[in-house]
Amino acid sequence: MNKRPSILVIAGFDPTGGAGIQADIETINDHGCHACSLITALTQQNSSNLLAYEPVSSDLVYRQFSSLHQEIEFSAVKIGMIGSIDMLETIVRIIENLVNVPVVLDPVLAAGGGASVANAEFIDLMKDKLLRLCTIITPNIPEAQKLSGKTGLNDCASTLLEAGSEHVLITGTHQDQEIVVNTLFSKHQPKYSLSCERLAAEYHGSGCTFASALTAGLALNHSAGNAFRMAHDYTFNSLKQADQPGKGQFFPRRQKSSFDA
Ligand code: PLP
Repeated sequence: MNKRPSILVIAGFDPTGGAGIQADIETINDHGCHACSLITALTQQNSSNLLAYEPVSSDLVYRQFSSLHQEIEFSAVKIGMIGSIDMLETIVRIIENLVNVPVVLDPVLAAGGGASVANAEFIDLMKDKLLRLCTIITPNIPEAQKLSGKTGLNDCASTLLEAGSEHVLITGTHQDQEIVVNTLFSKHQPKYSLSCERLAAEYHGSGCTFASALTAGLALNHSAGNAFRMAHDYTFNSLKQADQPGKGQFFPRRQKSSFDA
């Protein structure tokens, strides 16, 4: 029987199950891939707010990676919440061990309810050390502005491409307009936008879902543009079917029927 592509997921644990590593695993599974998970931090949160988080030992995470790396060949890597400078440096070491493996970074700087998980030193380090190792980064507009220090989207994207990422996919959920426009900026191709209707609810885990679907697309050997289109459709479908298990944000309903590639 054919092996499924294995994806190395490096992300935080959100006990609500809406975001974080659970969102990543569900999405990756829906795409017929297998997730190997390195948990960077444990969080305390509900569907409205992130209340606290504790980093996992970066030494343990590196040892977990080494054991996996001895026997599993990864088709792609997805990085979500990192949570500490130590962990960021460890992730750089991990990626440097993987040759020619596409890397998707969702630069989580704040949780769904707005709580920050990154200070200025962390943001500088991410820009200086991690971006050069990334195939696609998926900032929303505030993240793109914070990471680049620029305001306009074209300027943000140029700065982040110069920092080293092959592609920058800026998601438009934070824009004040009726449609959501997501744009893929690339070093060697013209920019490419996809738009969808702006849904009324607020969501917990939409960014994780989108970045994981994109990673699965790359693991399945799709081009960045095709992986973008598939991830866009999958995420939009999962948001249209979202429900509200708690009292705050809605959770994407990730399921195979959301994957129409
Ligand atoms: N990763 C973790 C562990 C989180 O708790 C959150 C949000 O709370 C995120 C990532 C980002 O979630 P979203 O996809 O809503 O941006």
